[in-house]
Amino acid sequence: MARYHGPVCRLCRREQMKLFLKGEKCYTKCVLERRPTPPGMAKPQRGKPSEYAIRLREKQRLKRMIAMTEGPFKIRMEKASKSPGMTGTVFLKRLELRLDNIVRRLGFATGINAARHLVLHGHVRVNGKPVNVSSVELKVGDVVELDPKMKENVGVKLALEHISRKGQRPSFVEFNEADISGKIVREPAREESSFAVNDQLIIEYYSR
Ligand code: SF4
Repeated sequence: MARYHGPVCRLCRREQMKLFLKGEKCYTKCVLERRPTPPGMAKPQRGKPSEYAIRLREKQRLKRMIAMTEGPFKIRMEKASKSPGMTGTVFLKRLELRLDNIVRRLGFATGINAARHLVLHGHVRVNGKPVNVSSVELKVGDVVELDPKMKENVGVKLALEHISRKGQRPSFVEFNEADISGKIVREPAREESSFAVNDQLIIEYYSR
């Protein structure tokens, strides 16, 4: 399935929840707060959604939060189901440790799409080497930093200011302010996941 390139606020309206895809604007001028109806509808939908629709929406929410397409998302879920441990916890932990998500959580970018952009354009280094694959899964001990020339970039500076104000860096990463880098110090716990979804519903969606 092709990647979505349309207005991202539409995705929040479709999912009826804030997915925080626009960075600073999500806190100051949120479209969902002004137009809380699903796209194409003047009023909220009436009636009870089916069991299938509930599970589908939960899966779509998570997929949109991490900005993944269906194929890779499903493959990750299948791999998580074959790994030791609880499938939902393993799945969320692996998504959390994706390079683009760590770049976002370190505050180098305000949203997942901007973080992916930094990675794809070769502005991010892992353990000193440039990495331009956003789906790379980081391990404990890995150090993520920006290319030195990007440290003066206006967008990066605004993103760093934003996260300093909000104080949202998780404790499983250690941020080094002097050289603007971050180290994964341990694996994220379930409750530290930035994805507020019911993973059980997503597992049920794929096992139907
Ligand atoms: Fe979603 Fe952010 Fe747009 Fe609000 S401003 S609808 S949270 S993307």
